[in-house]
Amino acid sequence: MLHRIPVDKLGPRGEAMSQAVTSCVHCGFCLPTCPTYEVLGDEADSPRGRIFLMKEVLEGNLQPADAAPHIDRCLGCVACQSSCPSGVGYGDLLSAYRADHQVATARGFFAKLRRWIASMTVPYPRRFALAMRLARLSGRLAALAPAGLKPLVDLVPDSLPEPQRPPEFSPAIGPQRAIVMLHIGCAAQVLNPEITAAAIRVLNRCGVAVRVPTDQVCCGSLHWHIGSADRAIGLARKNIDAFAGVDAIITTAAGCGSGMHEYPLMLAGDTQVAQADQFSRRVVDFSVFLDSLGIEPLQARSPVRIAYHDACHLAHAQKVRTPPRNLLGRIAGATLVGLTDSELCCGSAGTYNIDQPEIAGQLGQRKARSVVESGCDIVALGNIGCQVQIEQHLKRLGESTRVLHIAQILDLAQQGQL
Ligand code: SF4
Ligand code: SF4
Repeated sequence: MLHRIPVDKLGPRGEAMSQAVTSCVHCGFCLPTCPTYEVLGDEADSPRGRIFLMKEVLEGNLQPADAAPHIDRCLGCVACQSSCPSGVGYGDLLSAYRADHQVATARGFFAKLRRWIASMTVPYPRRFALAMRLARLSGRLAALAPAGLKPLVDLVPDSLPEPQRPPEFSPAIGPQRAIVMLHIGCAAQVLNPEITAAAIRVLNRCGVAVRVPTDQVCCGSLHWHIGSADRAIGLARKNIDAFAGVDAIITTAAGCGSGMHEYPLMLAGDTQVAQADQFSRRVVDFSVFLDSLGIEPLQARSPVRIAYHDACHLAHAQKVRTPPRNLLGRIAGATLVGLTDSELCCGSAGTYNIDQPEIAGQLGQRKARSVVESGCDIVALGNIGCQVQIEQHLKRLGESTRVLHIAQILDLAQQGQL
């Protein structure tokens, strides 16, 4: 796309934004894969339309507030990157644009309040746990909550697991094949700490020693994707220091992995950019690490049908599709069944189901219906946000299909409990 973006005035992330706009040839191949275009059918809510809108703002032809409703409705799922034949770096454009144009967006009082509450609690496990427990205690008051806060109230789960603090060091069982560091995320610690516990057990049984740095923090994705660049950069710096040493930094959350791969863009032009680059090269998803390491064949107790849901930030952002399926394929007695539109976003997408509850709800329902149609016994995935979203929407359909992280499935299989 031809443009007159003043790259030199846009700071260190200007080049990434200009490059993405330049590469777009307006072909429209991305449109059918865009969840918001699928739901809304509006060019302005498609990748091509958003690239044009961002270009117009960057050139100074359009006010950021006029583009904001369409940019806000973008899930950041980067499905458009997967389907783009021209290699447009839409994710870099969107992240950099949001980092620079956050203040000009207009979302209304309750939408701003919901986003503020989420951004002040979710990335901080103690606060998030406290907020969830308070919300549960006041559950009977939920009916009295203003309609504008309902999307937040709806996300409070029926029950919360007991908190678990993983050990700082868990040795390999048998001969040590590798040593890794584990990033444990923030939402998963509160909503499903079993994912971390299962990942450590599986890695240990595969001969991998696991260190969990105590001074690690939230990956910063939530702040980064809502345009709070300063907060995101502050968290990135802490993690770069906390994870010094070992070759591999394992994550069990697609969103965190994808966010930590964005550290070089976050810190573009900063004195720490080289460290950010080294850090992001060491970040690897649990499934990728284990698949490349190789695991012993496993056996399910009885035949089980598993459908794999592709989290956007694994499939599209990190191009991770095969390793999780390979791992599930190591379980004799487990059959992988197809999931219609497996790569279509489930609507979770960070704070999206808080910011855009209607679209998120439609995508969640659609995903839950695909799960039911697949006839699976278990949905496998690699992201806590998707797990919570799909569980909630299955429940609304009256379904009790289990939704488990890949690490939980392997852990059960290793114990003969699958
Ligand atoms: S597929 Fe790529 S090049 Fe074509 S319109 Fe979409 S972003 Fe632009
Ligand atoms: S990131 Fe997702 S929602 Fe946003 S334009 Fe691309 S495909 Fe559409």
